[in-house]
Amino acid sequence: MPDPRTFEQVVPFKYYAEWIKTQDGGRRMEQEDIRERYEDYRREALQRLYTQFFSVHKDDDWFCERFEPERRKEYMQKLASQKAENLRSFVSDLDSGKLDKLTLTATTEQVMQHEVNRRDLSSSNRLGGDDDDDGSESYTLFIRTVPPSVSRAVLEGELTKQPGFKHLSLSEPRQDKQYHRFGWVRFENGTDMDKAVESLSNINIDQFQFHFSRHNNVSSGIIRLTPDVCSTEERIRLDLKLAREAVRSVDEHTDREVDEKRVPEEGAADEDDQDDGEVKGNIAATRRELDLLVEYLRRVHYYCYYCGHTADNLEDFMRRCAKQHLRRGLPGNRSPQPSGNWTRNLDNRNDVIIHPLQAERLYKEGGKSLELETDKELDNHIKQLDEGRYRCLLCTKLFKGDAFVRKHIRNKHPEAVPETLVHEISFFNNFVREAPHLMMPGMMMPGMMAAPYMMPGMMPGMFRGGRANNGRGASSGGNRQDPRAVRSYVDLDAPAEGETDFGF
Ligand SMILES: [Zn+2]
Ligand SMILES: [Zn+2]
Repeated sequence: MPDPRTFEQVVPFKYYAEWIKTQDGGRRMEQEDIRERYEDYRREALQRLYTQFFSVHKDDDWFCERFEPERRKEYMQKLASQKAENLRSFVSDLDSGKLDKLTLTATTEQVMQHEVNRRDLSSSNRLGGDDDDDGSESYTLFIRTVPPSVSRAVLEGELTKQPGFKHLSLSEPRQDKQYHRFGWVRFENGTDMDKAVESLSNINIDQFQFHFSRHNNVSSGIIRLTPDVCSTEERIRLDLKLAREAVRSVDEHTDREVDEKRVPEEGAADEDDQDDGEVKGNIAATRRELDLLVEYLRRVHYYCYYCGHTADNLEDFMRRCAKQHLRRGLPGNRSPQPSGNWTRNLDNRNDVIIHPLQAERLYKEGGKSLELETDKELDNHIKQLDEGRYRCLLCTKLFKGDAFVRKHIRNKHPEAVPETLVHEISFFNNFVREAPHLMMPGMMMPGMMAAPYMMPGMMPGMFRGGRANNGRGASSGGNRQDPRAVRSYVDLDAPAEGETDFGF
């Protein structure tokens, strides 16, 4: 059996276990030891894959914007001020009673409408731009493709020359399309849009001819529906518990400006039952609070709880979800239709958002440990004279132990750890947090999928169960104990346009 370390992918636990039993002359190993060694192998393999990807993309504009620490800060600040504005509008609607009748349970008419829409949409491209059939004038243009070679700044520079230009939104880079993005260009109301399309028709940047068309608001669909199971009492209570965690987490991870504002909670939530988790109490009140929180996440954070997906702008959010994402009403006499892995995948997706990978867990998933990486730097400044005598080469002081001299250097000579190294690690780790979401099978670099040897049913470990070439991995990377280790590899992108829609 070939050594798993020679594969350009992460092999599943099963393969690794088989292989390791053939090593060391077939010495018997405890399951626990195998698992431990697999974890090490897996961490190293992931880090190697991520490092390769990182070095290929670290100069791309989309990559820097999201992950390079300085640019990311700037990007997040802009996003935070947009969210602050969203919050003001949400709170104003809440105060004026506009949300009093809000419910996420679909009516029978809405369910029927959904069926009709699905039939219509399945035969046409949901992104279509040219026919504006919702009647209202759209002051947004759609850009079918923004190549990774063109930076946001350069494109914006061209667009600001257009009369009435307000702002440019870009979608997430599309891993199945070599990281091209969609774009939406918003103009002031009343702008002559025909003229705008015409004058933009010959924009050519870096030898790339841009194509602009009128954006059709209807194109993203009006309703998505969750499976029946989301309407059960049990699930409503669980969803409220998770939605509260989600609100707390995304508020916290947004700029303080948003963080300091109040979070709408209508009495029902009290600290005590947040901590032991279980949500009790009147089901109507529970459902009401859930609906408000889900709406809050959508409108303020571009986060659809029922998709388990976030976006950075309204246009991209609408592309991924729909105007509304509702629960199917559940008639009292009917038990819910089976939903397969739907809820498990949803919970995994939301968990990735609610608990971003950090510190030790990040390291286990292929990230870099600041401590470990910078320790190597310190080595250059330590000289061991003999047992129990360590010299700091930066000031010649002597220490009794390795740990003491390291602590001394970190405290007294912080310049010993180069700023550039700290920066690089944080750049890399920012990427690793979202890496599984950006590196789907078939989208890795050339050669990565070309394994020298494939066992039947073997996928890159992290995407096992996925379908190799369509970019939609399913769950699981072997039966590890920590469910968290698995969670980041589920189908993070499922509810996007152009996918098979099972009606959820
Ligand atoms: Zn949704
Ligand atoms: Zn010193």
